[in-house]
Amino acid sequence: MSFAGIILVTLVVTSLVLSWLFNSFYFYTKEKELVSQGEEIAGLFSASLGEQANRETINFLTARSLRTQQDTRIMIVGREVLDSSLNPGPGLHPLPLEPADGQKLLQGRAITWQRQIPRSNQTILTAAVPFTYREQVAGAILLSTPVADIRATVSAVQRLILYSAGVAILLALIPAYCLSRSISRPIKQMSALTLEMARGNFRQHIPVTSQDEIGRLAENFNQLGVELEQTINKLSREKTQNENILSNLAEGVIATDLAGKTTLLNPAAEYLLGLEQKKALDQDLASFEGCQPLGALFKKVMETGEQGSLEFTLSGGKIILSARVAPLRGRDQVIYGAVGVIKDITEAKKLEQLRRDFIADVSHEIRTPLTSIQGFTEALLDEVTIDRTVQAEYLKVIHEESLRLGRLINELLDLARLESGKISWDLNPIHIPDLFAGVLLKLKPQLEEKNLRIEQKIPRDAPILPANEERIEQVLINLLQNAIRFSPPGGVIKMQASFSGEEVTISFTDQGPGIPEEDLPHIWERFYRVEKSRSRALGGTGLGLAIVKQIVEIHGGKVLVSSREGIGSTFSFTLPLAPA
Ligand code: ADP
Repeated sequence: MSFAGIILVTLVVTSLVLSWLFNSFYFYTKEKELVSQGEEIAGLFSASLGEQANRETINFLTARSLRTQQDTRIMIVGREVLDSSLNPGPGLHPLPLEPADGQKLLQGRAITWQRQIPRSNQTILTAAVPFTYREQVAGAILLSTPVADIRATVSAVQRLILYSAGVAILLALIPAYCLSRSISRPIKQMSALTLEMARGNFRQHIPVTSQDEIGRLAENFNQLGVELEQTINKLSREKTQNENILSNLAEGVIATDLAGKTTLLNPAAEYLLGLEQKKALDQDLASFEGCQPLGALFKKVMETGEQGSLEFTLSGGKIILSARVAPLRGRDQVIYGAVGVIKDITEAKKLEQLRRDFIADVSHEIRTPLTSIQGFTEALLDEVTIDRTVQAEYLKVIHEESLRLGRLINELLDLARLESGKISWDLNPIHIPDLFAGVLLKLKPQLEEKNLRIEQKIPRDAPILPANEERIEQVLINLLQNAIRFSPPGGVIKMQASFSGEEVTISFTDQGPGIPEEDLPHIWERFYRVEKSRSRALGGTGLGLAIVKQIVEIHGGKVLVSSREGIGSTFSFTLPLAPA
């Protein structure tokens, strides 16, 4: 439509300009022609007047003019008419002259004018050329010709131009349509492409059909698509990577917006805080059970813009968590939220407590014999005259206490080595009856001292056990020693070995005081004693069972205890028959 409009406007303007030019040129030529004819006649006329020319000459001239220009009328007017035209007066018929034109005529120059004839719609073009007599303007030759036909020609030309404009528009519409389509098609394609890009599809490609601006635009668009895809791929790779890191992190990560609503929660945080991502996202962090202190810390960090940390408990104090929260700042350094890292420190806290207890226990265990050694040595030093028997008694105590200290330290070192897992030992084929016999021999004095009887139950076909002989012997001695220690004098201790499938179970049953049920689960812990003073009085260090448990477990076995107060206890352990 715009093309058609442009063509129309151009042709209308062209036709107007052309017809104006045509008009002016025609009139100009006509005027020129009339003036030159007039000048020719005026020249001849002047000359003939000067030479007293006769009437025939004039007639001849007039006749000639009439013959050549049939529509041209020639009129000769005298000076009086010219003068009266400038100064109208009665009598003469004046010419329709402007004063300036009249002056020009009187100065000897030709003039022209047009006159419209109202009824016939004709234009009469008139040229007035002055002629002279004796160097004076004596009158003028007027040549008039109608120019109606030229207007008709001009309007015919205009019509022609308009018709051709119509045809031109019709013809131009086809290439214009093709041209506009060639422009609009790539633009439409680009528009569709941008929509596809908005949906995340960058694989579209616009065919580049030209080398002009549109072609370059299409090329740039294709390039833009490729680069956008690369950038987005890169970004999404980074995003996936970050998400993977976040979801595989052992620490919980949680983020909130300025209002304290959670915006991110990794699986570890879900697990630690006991939340579900679906329900927790976009909810106030402080509204979750047990998370009030955490929510308050997030708010404080966002208000102050400084990092903060906190230890808090969940599930009624069973789980201890530590959180470290930092503000999240945008490029403009404005805080838009906060992110916190949460760690489960329950185990670490427990270990710390264990270490503290252990140090306290060890100090306590060491202090007791040390105090008694100090006390007796001081007594020996202070009392100058001391009974020899008392002296011997004191020294015996000192000796026993120092032996206990030595045992304690040895067992502690032993246990530390066992627990560190750095210990490695050889497995020897052990013949259980021999091992039992050896242990009994070693503890014979203690057994005899308390007048204890041993009942052994070992199957004849006992298989060979792969284990470290020295360590297993230590286990047997520890257990038998305990049984001896807690057995009443004259009691019976049962030593049993039984084989079932792939393991051997060895047990010691005594007739001692037994162990209260509430103490049974703790009996294998270091320094755990049911009755501290009694056990110590019996020479125990509180480490024997802990060492037994370590040795048995390193061999791939298990320790068991069952006991009834007032009746006795059975301590047993299993060992695999195939090496662990
Ligand atoms: P200790 O060197 O003090 O005996 P153990 O680790 O061997 O240390 O034993 C820990 C505690 O278990 C003892 O103090 C005692 O209270 C209890 N215990 C061990 N063996 C027996 C047993 N046969 N009968 C009753 N109590 C026992």
